[in-house]
Amino acid sequence: MSKSKMWGPEAFWGLGYDWDPQWVLTRDQEALQEKLIDLCRTTLRDNAVESDRELVFPRKNFEALASLGLLGLNVPRAWGGLGEDHTCTAMVVETIARYGCASTAMCYTMHVGAVAAALFRAHDNATLQDLMKRLDRDVLVGTLSYSDPETGSHFWYPISSGAERVDGGWKVRKKASWTTSAGFADWYIVQTTSPDFGGDYSNLSCFLVMADEVKAEPSLWDGLGLRGNQSGTLEVDNVTMPESRLVGPVGDGANSNDETVDPFFLLCSSACWNGISLGMIDIARRHTTARRHADVGMRVADYPTIQDYVGEAVIDTNTSRSFVYLMARAMDDVTNQCDWSIHEDLSRMPRADVLHWMWQVKFTAAKNVANVSDKMLHACGGTGYKPDLGIERYLRDGKAGWVMGPTNEVLRQFVGKSVLLGFDSLDYWNQSVNERLLRNELKKMDGESKKELARELLAETDEG
Ligand SMILES: Cc1cc2nc3c(=O)[nH]c(=O)nc-3n(C[C@H](O)[C@H](O)[C@H](O)COP(=O)(O)OP(=O)(O)OC[C@H]3O[C@@H](n4cnc5c(N)ncnc54)[C@H](O)[C@@H]3O)c2cc1C
Repeated sequence: MSKSKMWGPEAFWGLGYDWDPQWVLTRDQEALQEKLIDLCRTTLRDNAVESDRELVFPRKNFEALASLGLLGLNVPRAWGGLGEDHTCTAMVVETIARYGCASTAMCYTMHVGAVAAALFRAHDNATLQDLMKRLDRDVLVGTLSYSDPETGSHFWYPISSGAERVDGGWKVRKKASWTTSAGFADWYIVQTTSPDFGGDYSNLSCFLVMADEVKAEPSLWDGLGLRGNQSGTLEVDNVTMPESRLVGPVGDGANSNDETVDPFFLLCSSACWNGISLGMIDIARRHTTARRHADVGMRVADYPTIQDYVGEAVIDTNTSRSFVYLMARAMDDVTNQCDWSIHEDLSRMPRADVLHWMWQVKFTAAKNVANVSDKMLHACGGTGYKPDLGIERYLRDGKAGWVMGPTNEVLRQFVGKSVLLGFDSLDYWNQSVNERLLRNELKKMDGESKKELARELLAETDEG
């Protein structure tokens, strides 16, 4: 038997440590988890209700997280951070979502992704280093602005954004349809095409943009769930910024995506969906063991149907958690426990080697949370349908899992297509011609239509 999980002075009312994979954590990480659970109890959980009801950005929760040093969770100790690894990061996000506030967990996910993108290229950039050293002291919330209005969930294809070299720095423009914490974050990592991109959308660059350089419209934000995450529009309108705001070399965007932004987003968002699943199972345990039916003298938890629901939800969720922690461990192993100094060699990209595993992790967690939220609502009956129990909010929050880019439709296609046709077939930037399709379509044309097409193509070639 493991030790008791506490909720302040009392035993925790949900699932105890017997159902948590505590063995993946070090003692220090377990101690951090305990402090964080308590912070959720005293602060984050109550604020979640306000964030959801009033669309309030969870700034107060970020101040609380900063008090535990969590904004600099992955920042090297030498720079004042906690120097923690991927496993600990997954635990922190899961804990915030489970016991505290799912909106905060999502904003924190984006913060962690932005910090990772900055740390990846901070070794020779004093501006990034200075920012990383002040995250907790000054409560500097970061986020990622990638999605483009023209390309939706294909966030790696920023058609409406760009940058040009100017005297002493860069002029950057960015239009984003969705940016978590937009208008509330203190700093943003934005992805644009590179200054010299010449029509090649795989040539991407990243910039550090500060709060006073963006235009956001928080008053327009509304959504089914994660309502505190304030994922509104964002614009950087041809802002001139110094040289040091370029994160990494020109053209480093795709590498930054594959090595930091994607792996950290997929890891942390999956931990968030698992945390939401667990949060609902906890509530369902408390409710079904307390609610009695006077006619048969039984509690809801005494019905085998309800036991089956909870049993399956725990098994599926722990399967998904196991996958998250397996991959967190894998990334810890290949990065010397998230040691950022390995990237002084700009070609080192060990996380990118397991990116296709991270796609599977996110697919699994987002699919699971949708199923678990349905079943836990069923288990709690009509009472679960009302906001007071908390299931209803978690159910709405969890719905974001499937639709957030990379969406689950896209991920399962990535996996299936690369298994069947190879990784090159993914063609993120729409650059390789599908000859098979082309020739098949041509077969359908008669001679005159072919000639007409040939004339058009020749004219185009001449123009070029
Ligand atoms: C709560 C929340 C927070 C967010 N936060 C951020 C953020 O911080 N930063 C950021 O950059 N973005 C963020 N996003 C944006 C997100 O990543 C997506 O870009 C956004 O949800 C896309 O919405 P859309 O309506 O354009 O979907 P579309 O891209 O139009 O998708 C519509 C449908 O088409 C499907 N589809 C798309 N492509 C394919 C394909 N190739 N094959 C099969 N089906 C396909 C999709 O799966 C979906 O079912 C956030 C989104 C949400 C919901």
